[in-house]
Amino acid sequence: MKIENLIGKKYGRWTVMSKAEKGRHIYYECCCDCGAKKKIRASSLISGRSKSCGCLLKERLSQRPNNIKHNKSSTRLYKIWSGMKKRCNQKMADKYKDYASKGIVVCKEWQDSFLAFYDWSINNGYADNLSIDRINPKGNYEPNNCRWASNQTQSENRQNVVLYDYFGEKLSGHALSIRLGFWPGYVREQIRSGKKILTIEKDKIVWEKQNNSEVTS
Ligand SMILES: [Zn+2]
Repeated sequence: MKIENLIGKKYGRWTVMSKAEKGRHIYYECCCDCGAKKKIRASSLISGRSKSCGCLLKERLSQRPNNIKHNKSSTRLYKIWSGMKKRCNQKMADKYKDYASKGIVVCKEWQDSFLAFYDWSINNGYADNLSIDRINPKGNYEPNNCRWASNQTQSENRQNVVLYDYFGEKLSGHALSIRLGFWPGYVREQIRSGKKILTIEKDKIVWEKQNNSEVTS
């Protein structure tokens, strides 16, 4: 194999310093951008097999999001992050019609960086049993419009959910139940059983009269 003189050339992070003797093959003493020096086979330099002392790979690995922590939650978070981006960005994604076509996007910060999403998640109540939920279902995936919610909260937040007026605030049945001190499914269960809300007061719901008896709770 005839190899030209490589001295002074740059291959990846390697700068070729001088020729070196090492066995039958042609080696060069190389200096990595990080300062490390090593004898590298000429053919490895030319073919691109060797691009650095190893620091390049190390950096890439440390930047790989699912390597931040080798635990379950970071893996799940990573899946959530990529799923969110897929839904909004990939035209062929199954849920394209639900997301991208409605103009829902992932904010640039999260789009570009899993770490940004990861940090926000950890600082905003992420837990393995929760999913990311857009508070305003027509709004984007961005810190101000997202929260970690149980599936129940999330399903009640879909576009067709009934919202109750609680002194000017629009609350789902779930949120209203909690606000009034009930278990989360309380309002929904009452409605399902046929009850109708007459008025909502600060601390209670007044249900419409049923079978001649007014029910207050
Ligand atoms: Zn290096």
